[in-house]
Amino acid sequence: MASPDIRKIYIETYGCQMNLADTELLLGLLKPQGYEPTHDASQADVILLNTCAIREHAEERVLGRLGVLVRHKARNPRVLLGLAGCMAQHHREKLLEQAPFLDFVVGPDAYRTLPALLTQEENDAPFVSVRLDREETYADITPVRGEGVRAWVTAMRGCDRFCTFCIVPYVRGRERSVPLAALLAQVRELAAHGYKEIVYLGQTVNAYHDGTADFADLLRQTAAIEGIERIRFTSPHPADMSERIIEAMATFPKIAPYLHLPLQSASNRVLQRMERGYTIEHYAALVERLRAALPDLALSTDIIVGFPGEDEADFRATYDFMAQVRYDSAFMFKYSPRQGTKAYKWGETVSEEEKGRRLQEIIALQERISREINRRLIGQTVEVLVEGPAKRQPGWLAGKSRQFKTVVFPGGQVQPGDLIQVQVRDATAHTLIGEARSPMPV
Ligand code: SF4
Repeated sequence: MASPDIRKIYIETYGCQMNLADTELLLGLLKPQGYEPTHDASQADVILLNTCAIREHAEERVLGRLGVLVRHKARNPRVLLGLAGCMAQHHREKLLEQAPFLDFVVGPDAYRTLPALLTQEENDAPFVSVRLDREETYADITPVRGEGVRAWVTAMRGCDRFCTFCIVPYVRGRERSVPLAALLAQVRELAAHGYKEIVYLGQTVNAYHDGTADFADLLRQTAAIEGIERIRFTSPHPADMSERIIEAMATFPKIAPYLHLPLQSASNRVLQRMERGYTIEHYAALVERLRAALPDLALSTDIIVGFPGEDEADFRATYDFMAQVRYDSAFMFKYSPRQGTKAYKWGETVSEEEKGRRLQEIIALQERISREINRRLIGQTVEVLVEGPAKRQPGWLAGKSRQFKTVVFPGGQVQPGDLIQVQVRDATAHTLIGEARSPMPV
């Protein structure tokens, strides 16, 4: 255990980048109270799981982990064990029935209550703090970020779209944006600390609007900040992808030519039942405009198979559309019903087995396309922002190309944060394998 004046907090983060950014925010909120992060749960005064509710499987994993981590509490009853994030907001007090040993449950808009909550350790009643707040953006909190070349910056929180399969608007509340001036100040600070790449985050990040400035303004003004070499954002919603944003992307080379543009389904019937807010014709025309404005654009997407009512013809439409658009990569999932959403009431119409078959089919298609696209880069030179050691090849380095492709190459005189040119020698569906070209760095 830590000395009485320094308290250690161990956080495990599940789910999306928003949650990773929220973990940094939680550390920022707790730092003034003397909390320091630890990677060793056995050394912690507070153990916190920052959770995801998007699929049932994610929640099962968290419950399993709680069963393991509670042992630290059994050894030392003064250790506080809590749950934060979307699952906390989704199940609230009910979590205490499944995990009665929890000391606190705190939702994404209630993190400011956490410091006070943690000082109430003498009070042995568990604390549930899950009020959603239409204003909260945590704009004044400085997140505690890990080392690296890329910083995730939350530009907006919540979502107003209420797609019928999605739990997010219920657990993260309504859409609200961090004021432009606060975001730019944060990015200037990050540049001063040596970060080279900024990724703006939001559930529908391109719906950003602080009352005066929209997302195109944010991109343009961020591009003017010296020291930041690359700007990315995730995830944009197709219906909020304005011409102004496309123009900003085409104008400023710092805005990386990579877009994660969730499709979900290519059947208008399914899109309508999902209440996605676009037709497949609208989406296809958007892809066309994007590719005309940004010829080197890499595209990725999200696909759900087995949504209630999806028949073979609907699925085929999705398969064919993916084959036609040729995404660089895709996140593909079986539909997972979430209690509280509109689609939950419709029940399931596609068997697990059939969902599995559809999923395997599009995974195989996408693997083939990703490999073909990447192999076409063999012989070409790509600009790489070096991040650090490669995971699988000892002595090699890894980084990302402007199109957000992982590039690995034998290490040399380069450092994380360097922008270098790498000649692609080989490629798989997921990785470019290359050689740094001299002179380097560029
Ligand atoms: S846009 Fe739809 S899928 Fe995305 S977070 Fe909002 S409700 Fe969920």
